[in-house]
Amino acid sequence: MQNRRVGEVLVGAGLGVLLYLLVTGYNIIPLLAVIGLGGLLYFFLEQKGVLHNSSMVNSAPRVELPFEDIGGQETAKQEIKEALEFILHMDQVQKMGIRPLRGILLTGPPGTGKTLLAKAAASYTNSAYVAVSGSEFIEIYAGVGAQRVRNLFKSAREMAKKMGKSSSIIFIDEIEVLGGKRGSHASHLEYDQTLNQLLVEMDGIATEDKTRILLIGATNRMDLLDPALLRPGRFDRQVRVELPDRHGRLEILKLHCRNKPLADDVNLEQIAKEAFGFSGAHLESVANEAAVLALRENSPQIHQEHLREAIEKVIMGEKMDRTPSDEELQRVAVHEAGHAIISELVRPNSVARVTITPRGSALGYVRRTPEQDQYLYTRSFLEKQIMICLGGAIAEEIIMGERSTGATGDFEEAVRMARRIITSGISHLGIICQESISQEVLSQAIRSIITAQEQVVRQLLYNCRSCNAAIARLLVENETVAGEQLRQYLSPGLQIGA
Ligand code: ATP
Repeated sequence: MQNRRVGEVLVGAGLGVLLYLLVTGYNIIPLLAVIGLGGLLYFFLEQKGVLHNSSMVNSAPRVELPFEDIGGQETAKQEIKEALEFILHMDQVQKMGIRPLRGILLTGPPGTGKTLLAKAAASYTNSAYVAVSGSEFIEIYAGVGAQRVRNLFKSAREMAKKMGKSSSIIFIDEIEVLGGKRGSHASHLEYDQTLNQLLVEMDGIATEDKTRILLIGATNRMDLLDPALLRPGRFDRQVRVELPDRHGRLEILKLHCRNKPLADDVNLEQIAKEAFGFSGAHLESVANEAAVLALRENSPQIHQEHLREAIEKVIMGEKMDRTPSDEELQRVAVHEAGHAIISELVRPNSVARVTITPRGSALGYVRRTPEQDQYLYTRSFLEKQIMICLGGAIAEEIIMGERSTGATGDFEEAVRMARRIITSGISHLGIICQESISQEVLSQAIRSIITAQEQVVRQLLYNCRSCNAAIARLLVENETVAGEQLRQYLSPGLQIGA
């Protein structure tokens, strides 16, 4: 406020002087040109943040987020808490002559809660919190990035002092942008200077500092980071933040449904089971979308069906308005019924829902429920997945007389799976060296795996052709068929084992 008033006085005085010079007949054009150039330079530097220490600090310094408000991630939370003991017990650390912990690197897929963990770390240690993104440091002008790194550390210290705190946590998201391997960028002088400055600032963190600084970096691409950042004394702790398992998903769903009116029929355990592979951000979106769907229907509470539909929306995108022709609709229904039948035959009770409502780029889809989270796959498991992929096209072939282009994505998936069988050394080729195997041998092996499954699927779907047609009719009528309903149509004797 005071700065503004001083500025106003200066501008007023300057105008007065100019007016006086003009009246006394002085040629003021060169003076105006100099003032204009100075103004432009000031504007440019201001935009680049060179003139202000905190121009890029875009965070609220005071954060209140307990670790309990982060669902799952028990191992990551434990590791971070252990690391934070260094800040909490600074006296002991100093007494023992322990070098301070300077950095914690959080790595893992997007939306898994890395930012939340950094905020919780600040809360837990009662530190000031400063957050920036790696991309904010990168400029084409040499020196600006390095200046920003200096300002960042300076403002973190100032902020802690102002708030009466003894420590400050700096969180740098997308740290790979700022800390990428040196010499690998086109304008590498600027990139290298910025990273060098970060290394210098990190090395400058000492046990005796009045304000303890801890840097928390987050990245999805650890492979891009410069090795200098990862050496001991810099990012001393590396913590993996993984996609949540079933228990973690349930915890996260519970957290995000805390403030929402849930009906009695809601079974969050079932939703957590169906949301296999979802990150925390996906799950937050499921809870939110379910509430939006309930509101749209004027329902005072969120029901299980809203949550189920929200999962589909998060996976596939918003429902599309396009209306396929009757023949296309019939073909999509036959195709999806084919996938669903094979899925039930090779893995009973695996289908959660079949639908021919177009969403995103898909005309229809089968949503399946994994029994439990799985991280290892056997050959027979992958072959069954290939069978499920092929079911759609073969059902079209048997019932509609020919296949369509709708199966392109399914075939790509089948090929990906067959390739995985081969590269994992569990195909008839045995253990192979991927680099020395020729393209021809590879594609022949892929073809032989897929053709073998194709024959089995054709036989199964031929035996089920009337059931396939009946389910397709049901789909055309109702758009959606639930897993339980589908299983009623299948005769139990047809199953070929789980
Ligand atoms: P990115 O790598 O894309 O920056 P991130 O790992 O930093 O992502 P966050 O920004 O922490 O992810 O999470 C995004 C949102 O997802 C959070 O605001 C929160 O709503 C939700 N979320 C993610 N993980 C969790 C979790 N473990 N518990 C509760 N909510 C979570």
